[in-house]
Amino acid sequence: MAAIQIDPKSKFARNLPVDLVIGDDAAQQTLLREYGAVFVARGGVTAPNRVVFEDQEEVAEFQSRLDIKASEVGGHVLELQSVAMDALRAAKAEASAAGLSISPRGSDSARRDYLGTVELWKSRVEPALVHWVGLGRMTAEHAAKIRSFAPYEQVSEVFALEKEGIYFAKDLSKSIIYSVAPPGASQHLSLLAFDVAEFDNADIRRILAEHFWYQTVVSDLPHFTFLGVPIEGLRDLGLRRVEHHEREFWIPDL
Ligand SMILES: [Zn+2]
Repeated sequence: MAAIQIDPKSKFARNLPVDLVIGDDAAQQTLLREYGAVFVARGGVTAPNRVVFEDQEEVAEFQSRLDIKASEVGGHVLELQSVAMDALRAAKAEASAAGLSISPRGSDSARRDYLGTVELWKSRVEPALVHWVGLGRMTAEHAAKIRSFAPYEQVSEVFALEKEGIYFAKDLSKSIIYSVAPPGASQHLSLLAFDVAEFDNADIRRILAEHFWYQTVVSDLPHFTFLGVPIEGLRDLGLRRVEHHEREFWIPDL
């Protein structure tokens, strides 16, 4: 069975890491389309080699190969790939000089491990199940069945429900993928993502972009991704610009 349903001749596909593992379930195709910018990151960083890491062992193996730098940012010690951290610190210095600040939303704003992504996923799925059972849109038995699944097995089930308008994002009005990443699929596992407290400030977004930090997950407003090239180079990587919430996002051009 063909694993890649995306056009292998597309510019985006041609820029993917040659060793990228793409599972052949529909969920991974969706995740590649939605979160895919990180896989074409450049500038001396290592892009993740899996669309979905299946467990902490796979995450640890990948993270063990990275050149990582820890730095205190806004009261938290954060870890990113070194090039990404240097760029973030340069952006922070430029913001400071302009009387602005760039700080993390919390202690998990940069590096995450597999369990962290499982916990975040659960933090959205559980209240949504309670909500939709309460409204009579799904049965308690169906909710119990979903709870019994392994974390990644829940993903296809949740995506299927969302096709019927039963949404799992925090505000229950959109897909969970615009709220949290499925277990093992977060860009934070690759140490190339950073959640910015000052995301509402257009000057901060401009400064971050000048240091190759861009928004790549539509509707996840605090989330920025290090792509390692100037803005003029993003189309050459097979990305396209979309506008949403009066911001620009760079996503795979598929
Ligand atoms: Zn994030």
